[in-house]
Amino acid sequence: MIADALVPIVLAPASSVVLVDFDGSLAPIVDDPEAAAPLPAARQALAALVGRVGRVGVVSGRPAEFLRAALALDGVVLVGQYGLERVVDRRVVVDPRVERYRATVATVAAEAERALAGIRVERKGDVAVAIHWRQNPGRADEARHWADGAASASGLELHPGRMVAELRPPIAVDKGSAVELLCAGMRVALFAGDDRGDLPAFDALDRLVAGGALDQAVRVGVRSSEEPSEVIARADLHVDGPEGLAHLLLDLATAIP
Ligand SMILES: [Mg+2]
Repeated sequence: MIADALVPIVLAPASSVVLVDFDGSLAPIVDDPEAAAPLPAARQALAALVGRVGRVGVVSGRPAEFLRAALALDGVVLVGQYGLERVVDRRVVVDPRVERYRATVATVAAEAERALAGIRVERKGDVAVAIHWRQNPGRADEARHWADGAASASGLELHPGRMVAELRPPIAVDKGSAVELLCAGMRVALFAGDDRGDLPAFDALDRLVAGGALDQAVRVGVRSSEEPSEVIARADLHVDGPEGLAHLLLDLATAIP
């Protein structure tokens, strides 16, 4: 038995696309973001979907190179940094619009390391900077405030997440624009996510269905103890953590001949 919401995919697998967020969806959230790894069951589920549905993709804020190394799966489309990077033929391709911001990103990263000593500053290649206070929750306000000021001063855009603030070039990409591209040519789409950064993906599915580009969309909300209720409120299906999502995707793959 599979969930009713998944039936349209089982009925038209070749014209269905399955898209998944990485952190909190395929991989459990861990204190050290570099240590995050997909659950073996999640990798297995994605591998099982490749060739059974029209397209399988991972859409993440992570650098595409990180996704490539962490998943090590052929046949899965990898979109990193919210669409600013993708893996094509196992190589990372960066959106050319990023070029003129590389120097600014490097400067802001160096300033963050100086001003926020002790707080984790992640250089996402030279495309973006993420400030993580999961390991320093007592300095959350300080980190947020610094990131806010740095965004105003540098012209980079501030994107808040789960105990993280990211500074990125002001280029109009989000998981929604990435999802729209990945839905091209497809009739049914599923997107699974756990965080407010995934809401634009849900919005994109709504738009594509409303405009007739998709016949059906399935929004899967991955529950966690810290995830905003909005993701769950907007979802058609709910699963408990990455384990729950891995089960759902494996059930889906198994239901497709
Ligand atoms: Mg996530």
